[in-house]
Amino acid sequence: MKIFINNRYYSKRNAKVSIFDHGYLYGDGIYETMRSNNGVVFKIDEHITRLFRSAKMIYLDIRYSKQEIKSAVYRTLKINKLKNAYIRISFSRGIGEIGLDTALCKKPVFVIITNKFRQYPKEYYKNGVKIIIAETRRNHPKSLNPKIKSNNFLNNILAKIEAKKRNAFESIMLNLDGFIAEGTVSNIFIVKNGILMTPSLKCGILGGITRKYILESAKKMKIKVKEAKIRINELYAVDECFITNTSIGIMPVRSIDGRRINVKGEVIKRLIKLKFN
Ligand code: PMP
Repeated sequence: MKIFINNRYYSKRNAKVSIFDHGYLYGDGIYETMRSNNGVVFKIDEHITRLFRSAKMIYLDIRYSKQEIKSAVYRTLKINKLKNAYIRISFSRGIGEIGLDTALCKKPVFVIITNKFRQYPKEYYKNGVKIIIAETRRNHPKSLNPKIKSNNFLNNILAKIEAKKRNAFESIMLNLDGFIAEGTVSNIFIVKNGILMTPSLKCGILGGITRKYILESAKKMKIKVKEAKIRINELYAVDECFITNTSIGIMPVRSIDGRRINVKGEVIKRLIKLKFN
């Protein structure tokens, strides 16, 4: 597998960044994950637009055009002979002396890692997964805005540790006001009385590309949708629930904090047929 670093390719073994990279020292950077099906990267333009938004929000000038990034992604897939792939692009602040001043770093480091796309086991989709509500709350938008898809991932990692301890697939974090926000790497949807609901962007979440695709598709399918503020007690009383992201697509949930949920609900049955290509 060849890894792209600042327009050059390296073997996995030799793909290295400096310990003085502020991405390493401070988690100062941003990223995107994408997937390709049959050589086509799903919603690549939306991912690159989100990348630019993240960059702007951390005052990072990434010095590549959208087209250059797109070409680099496709070139990396080609070099690695990948058609169905997982793709991760990241920009770190770059190499600089120790210190928080971003001006210490002269040039961002652009990395593209690709891999064969590995689907989660079929049983997960058939039987659903366990999720829990984490004690860890989602970062407040006025401290580190979840809209920034940042390399600074400790908030999510702490919640993920809770999921692992409780033998769950994913942790859902509440925001500081106690409303449902999002998973560590996913958005959450619920169905109640035939209405598909998901936390609104105002709840302080990442606007998932999959989330948007599902909302748009559901509207086209004449499913009633609502972006809302959702409380835990509503979550415990749902008819259906699923989580979404680029790699998992739509993953049905079979239990929330041990409370069982129907994984064969009417809305999930229709949405799970959506194609991610
Ligand atoms: N929320 C968080 C915190 C995430 O890391 C992700 C994964 N990128 C998502 C939601 C889902 O986003 P997407 O559908 O764009 O993969």
